[in-house]
Amino acid sequence: MAGRVVVVGGGLAGAKTVEALRDGGHDGGIVLLEAGDELPYERPPLSKGYLQGSDERDSVFVHDADWYADHDVELHLDVQATALDLAGRDVIDTSGTRHGFTHVVLATGSAPRPLDVPGADLLGVARLRTLADADRLRASLQSASRVVVVGGGWIGLEVAAAARAADCEVTVVVRDEFPLRSVLGDRMAALFADLHRAHGVDLRTSAEVSRILAAGDGAHVGGVALADGTVVDADLVVVGVGAAPRVDLARDAGLLVDDGVVVDAHLRSSDQHVLAVGDIARAEHPFLGTHVRVEHWATALNQPATAAATILGRDEPYDKLPYFFSDQYDLGMEYVGWTGHGFDDVVVRGDESGRELIAFWTHGGRVVAGMNVNVWDVVEDVERLIRSRAVVEPARLADPDIPLADLV
Ligand SMILES: Cc1cc2nc3c(=O)[nH]c(=O)nc-3n(C[C@H](O)[C@H](O)[C@H](O)COP(=O)(O)OP(=O)(O)OC[C@H]3O[C@@H](n4cnc5c(N)ncnc54)[C@H](O)[C@@H]3O)c2cc1C
Repeated sequence: MAGRVVVVGGGLAGAKTVEALRDGGHDGGIVLLEAGDELPYERPPLSKGYLQGSDERDSVFVHDADWYADHDVELHLDVQATALDLAGRDVIDTSGTRHGFTHVVLATGSAPRPLDVPGADLLGVARLRTLADADRLRASLQSASRVVVVGGGWIGLEVAAAARAADCEVTVVVRDEFPLRSVLGDRMAALFADLHRAHGVDLRTSAEVSRILAAGDGAHVGGVALADGTVVDADLVVVGVGAAPRVDLARDAGLLVDDGVVVDAHLRSSDQHVLAVGDIARAEHPFLGTHVRVEHWATALNQPATAAATILGRDEPYDKLPYFFSDQYDLGMEYVGWTGHGFDDVVVRGDESGRELIAFWTHGGRVVAGMNVNVWDVVEDVERLIRSRAVVEPARLADPDIPLADLV
């Protein structure tokens, strides 16, 4: 099919979209606009192997530079799209250049939320989203001795593990009673709290940062003041308080936006010529029966094939279950499913204190999500269980002698 596709945002989702278009036989023009100055790369290593120095820089890139030229993809780095002209079918960039399109795919990802307290702009207050952030943080961890991580989400906890590996004293400040509580619920969130405490992290829960304090020089960070009046000394503060989808282009163009660009199961927005993928897409999910937006690597990896299929006129709705993974110290985990409709029980199969288990979140006796911790090759079985919507006795779910495949 001829036609010109402009992809805005050269992260994983953008790079995979141009790849899927060419793989799917699109023989028209493809333009990829990326505001940053690096080739498209994957972010998960930035808080894991790359931050800890075990992954090479080259390993994070989706493709090398030649790939884009070899596949006739016009890649523009350092070019930020500033407007979408839907009537004229143009994407306009900062220089005023118009990039005409028959379809545009928005893949602008998310931006870290700022920490809105005094002192957040002091030197030594870091965040982690880009490769350049990771380079700076990696260097800072080598010279820091006392690190405070603000926020107990996945990135914050992975940074805490990296800081411990770099022999820093680490404090993690978490608003909730447990880190990750809003994602995992009390019981499994407690497992992560125990993990970090066992590795020497000073975990301050139900705590809030009220101010970041300057060191004697007035320029660098010296500590963190908590709302209860406690002060924690620090020479490096890492802020990991979540991210927000970058929806300005879509909103300014009048597309339907509701915590993300609202798209159908074929990833089409309220304008049929505009699609959205990855972190910014709030996509109708046929199996879950609602619109879902998740900030997961696997979504950025897999949704592009659906977007390309839609552009190429094929009917392939996106219905993969949300999936994510994390590595912290000697713990590796994968999570598949979605608890957005709620859950009423968590059933554990395996050794909770030894952190080798599968946890199942159930709703009305049906498994809606599962997390394997230091247990491998079970994701497909858990997915099958979720998709079967079978009601399973908790005792059978918990029994390691019953193969997961037999529960369906
Ligand atoms: C440190 C870190 C660790 C993570 N670890 C995990 C993990 O272990 N497991 C997991 O499942 N997920 C993880 N994630 C989340 C995962 O990386 C994201 O879900 C994924 O990167 C989303 O990809 P994306 O392409 O949608 O967006 P992004 O990766 O955010 O890419 C969007 C790109 O668009 C560009 N852009 C934005 N606006 C414009 C514009 N107007 N014009 C041009 N370009 C623009 C940006 O510069 C950016 O490069 C992690 C994220 C981070 C930051």
